[in-house]
Amino acid sequence: MGNAIEIDNISKRYGKIKALDKVSFSVPEGMLYGLIGPDGAGKSTLYNILTTLQRPDSGKATVAGHDVIKGRKKIRTEVGYMPERFSLYPDLTVKENLEFFASLFGVQVSENYDMIAPVMTQLEKFPNRRASALSGGMKQKLALGCALIHRPKVLLLDEPTTGVDAISRSEFWTMLRSLKESGITILVSTSYMDEAALCEEVALIYNGKIVENGTPSELTAHLGENLYNASADQMYPLLEAVRELPGVLNSYTFGATLHLVTDATFDVASACDKLSASGLDNVKVYLAKGNIEDLFIRFCNIEDHE
Ligand code: ADP
Repeated sequence: MGNAIEIDNISKRYGKIKALDKVSFSVPEGMLYGLIGPDGAGKSTLYNILTTLQRPDSGKATVAGHDVIKGRKKIRTEVGYMPERFSLYPDLTVKENLEFFASLFGVQVSENYDMIAPVMTQLEKFPNRRASALSGGMKQKLALGCALIHRPKVLLLDEPTTGVDAISRSEFWTMLRSLKESGITILVSTSYMDEAALCEEVALIYNGKIVENGTPSELTAHLGENLYNASADQMYPLLEAVRELPGVLNSYTFGATLHLVTDATFDVASACDKLSASGLDNVKVYLAKGNIEDLFIRFCNIEDHE
């Protein structure tokens, strides 16, 4: 199988801002691939280029085998796109939105309904409700239905879960996995680091550059070696105290605990003794299992110290 998306050295500037800086990666056919990065990283700019809404300054990209400049028309018919702010028409009903998007592609809703049926289970109950009156999670599902109604080969989703509740987010990812099972290739972007683990492979983007790519477990495999969890009854004084420990390069809050990035000189037993001696109660320090968020904190620090 080939690649459904190939991105080769794409750069794009807005005046002085380098929104994309020599971005390259590819998405194999049939994969659920994540583009993970904080706000302002360049995700939407890349989507605009892949959907032919913007031209890159340099570099090449193909989607479903078509060049983003020469194959614009084909891309528009073979690709489904859900922009960051859903493209629904608020005054149109659920049914009318679907019919509108189907008509753009010259298809009937009924002929492709099997494709969107899993997405429409709850929405089917109120076909005549205006899109503006739907909850965030329902809008997101309808927008996905509209992006799929012409049976695209490749689905491009730009931050589809931003601003929707946790249950809708989780349902949405379940839907993406079943769509992937049906053979469609999906490139989904997110700034929620926990969603990286739900993708088969990811590219991490920061400041317009791809900093890493691979499977989520490959990327985090080596993080644990110099990463520790620390907790105590008094968390703020703990944060101050760990910064004084020998061998601690960085520390930050992580859920209800702290994460400490250390070098080889860090010694757990003496760290615990020192923290307890400084008056902290219930001190615990143990090896942490790093995740994608830890990777980003590393990259951000590298940038800050340049
Ligand atoms: P993301 O989708 O990851 O939040 P964007 O692609 O929207 O990132 O933005 C990347 C960078 O480009 C940011 O610094 C953003 O402020 C800037 N940017 C995006 N669109 C424009 C624009 N139309 N004009 C000027 N700067 C822009």
